Amino acid sequence: MADVSKISLNTATVKAQWSLRECIEGCARHGIRGIAPWRDVLHAMGIDEAARAIKDNGLRVTGLCRGGMFPATTAAVRKKALDDNYRAVDEALALGAECLILVVGGMPEGSKDIAGARSQVRDGIGQLLDYSRKHAMPLAIEPLHPMYAADRACVNTMSHANDLCDELGPGLGIAVDVYHVWWDPALEREIRRAGRDRLLAFHVCDWLVPTRDLLLDRGMMGDGIIDIPLIRTWMEREGYQGCYEVEIFSSEDWWKRDPDEVLNIVNARVASAV
Ligand code: ZN
Repeated sequence: MADVSKISLNTATVKAQWSLRECIEGCARHGIRGIAPWRDVLHAMGIDEAARAIKDNGLRVTGLCRGGMFPATTAAVRKKALDDNYRAVDEALALGAECLILVVGGMPEGSKDIAGARSQVRDGIGQLLDYSRKHAMPLAIEPLHPMYAADRACVNTMSHANDLCDELGPGLGIAVDVYHVWWDPALEREIRRAGRDRLLAFHVCDWLVPTRDLLLDRGMMGDGIIDIPLIRTWMEREGYQGCYEVEIFSSEDWWKRDPDEVLNIVNARVASAV
């Protein structure tokens, strides 16, 4: 059974309706004990103000979304991306976040060299680790579904993320988002390979059939075809004790609903479908 005291709200789930302050207050109202803000809503509220409100409401921060986006055509642009990643680490520290989520980036504009993009990702994470390790902020690579390889993330499997963790060493782990990895025949094996130390976050939503939009048509847990309890069991068998972070991008459905209704349903669905 899923432990309903471990729900975390990723702010993207009510992105169209609520500011970060409203998300924090909404979590408190609905008995949700974790939150994972995106940096745009964090910046809109102000980092100090957000850190205070999160603390006052006793919420844990299960991750800050997001750093990454390492590949670029020129060294100057890569340096700019890296500087922004250092700031993201600082923000994660200010919030007391459990990890900084990395969406690593896709192909630089005009490029057909995915191997090159992947080596830029490796180098970028390596440089960021020099900084994040000093401050003890874990970095969590989020492998994204291969349909995003060109424009969002060219790390698309748990296996690739584990390889990067092997190569780059401590301070680096993985965010397992069921939406991105449910299809992978090696998923169980790669979760086992990651083990407790690397399993830094667990994101849940569902895969709808048909999916009408590659980015903005994620489903509520229980409405699609992902066996979420099975994947949760694999995570917890390795010792994962973190939250289930609910992250639903849904421009035509959940973003159009009353956010209090959304949170009521989130609570019910974690109990029945996670
Ligand atoms: Zn995610």
